[in-house]
Amino acid sequence: MRTIKDYESVDSTWCPGCGDFGVLSALKKAAVDLEIDPKDLVVITGIGCSSKINEYIKCYGYHGVHGRALPVGTIVKVANPALTVVVAGGDGDGYAIGMGHFVHTVRRNPDITYIVMNNQVYGLTKGQFSPTSRPGMITGTSPEGTYDPPVDGVALALTAGATFAARGFSGNPKHLTELFKAGIQHPGFALIDVLSPCVTYNDVNTYDWFRENIEYVDQPYDYDPTDRAAAIGRIMRAVKVPVGLVYRNPDRPSLHQEALADPARPPIAADLTIDGRYEELQELFV
Ligand code: SF4
Ligand code: MG
Repeated sequence: MRTIKDYESVDSTWCPGCGDFGVLSALKKAAVDLEIDPKDLVVITGIGCSSKINEYIKCYGYHGVHGRALPVGTIVKVANPALTVVVAGGDGDGYAIGMGHFVHTVRRNPDITYIVMNNQVYGLTKGQFSPTSRPGMITGTSPEGTYDPPVDGVALALTAGATFAARGFSGNPKHLTELFKAGIQHPGFALIDVLSPCVTYNDVNTYDWFRENIEYVDQPYDYDPTDRAAAIGRIMRAVKVPVGLVYRNPDRPSLHQEALADPARPPIAADLTIDGRYEELQELFV
């Protein structure tokens, strides 16, 4: 039986109290509960504070270019469907520079779990407003307050055809763990937007602010979460920030199931052996 210790890695450099700690613990707990061998777990990230998460959990990992982690995660899963592929990053990474990749990855439905640690600010670059900042937020780059309405990743995913869309809160790691487990087990693309406070650069959207300003849509449901229109209607009706497993449809085949429809066809990775090709590879890296 696995324990959290099996996934321990190096100590983090996150600020004490950062919401990303709750995400890290929930991800490790989900891996324990689902008995995922660390060698079968791949966490692909972008650039930003939250994207350092794959250094802090024992797994295979890779940093994509800013906003470009999703296509990397997609091809890793198609190349070797036996792996559990998690892609993670922040709101700036996923909903600004990565927006195009986000929408098109939703459409393709690869069997990967996408965790967006949403702190409504750019943390790593010292607190500029981000695509999810609330209107009026005063930052170094918006001294008079922001003017734009925030991007809602869950609503966007639902309208782009997502087969799984959820929102969690890092201040409720038990609920978040269940969302991660459901997302990993979902046979397609699973978005989990996580409200994850930046305690250093966002003094508005704090843990207390979220506790007062979120509502759970899944405890209990008052609509059918397998009905896309009903799910969109529920989050549009929400008075506070909607949190929970908003929608899921496990019936649509994932990208690799469609791409590798012939069960006799081996995963692409089976062809990618480096046995006997070291000299060729060395030439490539000179
Ligand atoms: Fe977390 Fe913000 Fe510190 Fe980055 S700057 S580690 S997001 S608290
Ligand atoms: Mg951010």
